[in-house]
Amino acid sequence: MIVYDLSCDAGHRFEGWFGSSGDYVSQRERRLVACPQCGSGEIEKAPMAPAVPRKGNRQSEPKQTNAGGVIPPEAAAVLKKLAELQAEALKSSTWVGEDFPEQSRAIHYGEREPEPIHGKATRDEANALIEEGITIAPLLFPVAPPEELN
Ligand SMILES: [Zn+2]
Repeated sequence: MIVYDLSCDAGHRFEGWFGSSGDYVSQRERRLVACPQCGSGEIEKAPMAPAVPRKGNRQSEPKQTNAGGVIPPEAAAVLKKLAELQAEALKSSTWVGEDFPEQSRAIHYGEREPEPIHGKATRDEANALIEEGITIAPLLFPVAPPEELN
């Protein structure tokens, strides 16, 4: 898909999505491309906007959508789903805070009842646990300790 900035003979500007540049040409020739504001079929490619706003004119430039740092909606939906899955998984898990490395070891070595736990570990602590063969997984999303909620 390619997107063109288009303008009609009345000067309305809009975006048109096409499978290819050839699609644009054939759709335009068949008058299938019309201005969404006035319906005009007299469509031309609008002059390209400058990639970099001119200095001193920055404030008046319209804010570009999707310009840098904005994740696509599909990715946002996946992240939201993952966050929900994590929240669901943690419902049956006990927050052990700073005790996480110790509690993980206790469970691994059968010193306490096994149960799902989550908490804090430094990178070194996490590496040490993994080296001991203890299965831990990093949380994908930061979790606020219960005492910090409210
Ligand atoms: Zn128009």
